[in-house]
Amino acid sequence: MARIVMKFGGTSVADLDRIRNVAQRVKREVDAGHQVAVVVSAMSGVTNQLVDWVRQLDPLHDAREYDTVVATGEQVTAGLTAIALQTIGVPARSWTGWQIPIHTDDMHGKARIKGIDAAAIESRFEQGMVAVVTGFQGLGSDNRVTTLGRGGSDTSAVAVAAGLKADRCDIYTDVDGVYTADPRIVARARKLDRISYEEMFELASLGSKVLQTRSVEIAMNHRVRLAVLSSFKDLPGTLICDEDEIVEHHVVSGIAHSRDEAKITVLKVADRPGIAASVFGPLADAGINVDMIVQNISPDGSSTDMTFTIGRTDLERALKVLETNRAEIGYADLRPDATVAKISVVGVGMRSHAGVALTMFRTLAAERINIQLITTSEIKVSILIDEKYTELAVRALHTAYGLDG
Ligand code: ADP
Ligand code: ASP
Ligand code: MG
Repeated sequence: MARIVMKFGGTSVADLDRIRNVAQRVKREVDAGHQVAVVVSAMSGVTNQLVDWVRQLDPLHDAREYDTVVATGEQVTAGLTAIALQTIGVPARSWTGWQIPIHTDDMHGKARIKGIDAAAIESRFEQGMVAVVTGFQGLGSDNRVTTLGRGGSDTSAVAVAAGLKADRCDIYTDVDGVYTADPRIVARARKLDRISYEEMFELASLGSKVLQTRSVEIAMNHRVRLAVLSSFKDLPGTLICDEDEIVEHHVVSGIAHSRDEAKITVLKVADRPGIAASVFGPLADAGINVDMIVQNISPDGSSTDMTFTIGRTDLERALKVLETNRAEIGYADLRPDATVAKISVVGVGMRSHAGVALTMFRTLAAERINIQLITTSEIKVSILIDEKYTELAVRALHTAYGLDG
């Protein structure tokens, strides 16, 4: 007997037939004698609709009320999934994030899970029941519902698996595994049998939405056996595992892209010590993460321009913060741009191979794509480009690094 967490994403629970399909998949594991906790997302499109309603009322909405609204989608699916299981003779009960409870911090809209009390689920297991848990949500110390950021049900599933010391955490989705690039834009992308936690973490954080970044981090820290599989086809998926469990190694394992980026240039700031702190301090206080940064040298020795990127959904708030702090920072103007995309190549092989970045620059040059910003770390290179070249850039790089299937 094994203990398994099965997570089903939005397209896997998009309508009642698909929820019935989920129930059958769960039944197979129950019939095999396993203890099963199921984590579900909202039905496809529901979270987008909820977010859209909130933004229409107020683009700078109250984050607590945003969570109150957007957490509702998962509750519907959890109840429906429990009913679908009951109708085929599988005893099941649904659980919301606050009922378990899944404790989080109070960063509403992008809360982090702090701990899970697994006792409630374990007691249901002892009664031979399946526990169906709402993904994406938890309970803050302010006793209010929190949400974990878009794609957060993956993180709920891995956290539940860690809390239950589960043997496996299977993420069922609309693709049959992790590919060398998003298969929706690269037809020749190849499915990976295995990928290291570290590479998956980088790919996720750089925009590969197949897993939420935090889910990979929790899996890595708690040694959760994590797999990505299709909820529609019976095919082997991708195992996320330790680097030394992987036999075949490539310099570049995958390419990620993200259109969730925005760029701000702060024009004519004083070229003096403390200027970066005066720009980025207020943004950090507002909970806005800054990613890529460049500060030019000052041609006249007094003022310079500073460019950085943030999440696109934070753009309006970031501009407001910078305008509010204009007197302290001192700048001539702000130039926002929400039409940029970040393209990244990832691979542990970069640690021992030179020239990976150069291949990237040459490939983009051959396609006449201008690079706006560059950042590198031990196992990745990222560049910022005009978003209209996203597909072209990803496909050209996929070929250039020999990843085409
Ligand atoms: P779910 O609703 O099941 O959570 P998501 O839409 O969040 O599903 O994630 C699955 C999607 O991730 C796929 O449909 C695919 O377009 C996208 N994706 C992006 N990068 C990759 C990749 N490297 N491998 C597989 N899928 C990817
Ligand atoms: N329903 C949430 C979202 O769409 C969480 C998830 O699906 O993982 O972001
Ligand atoms: Mg997802």
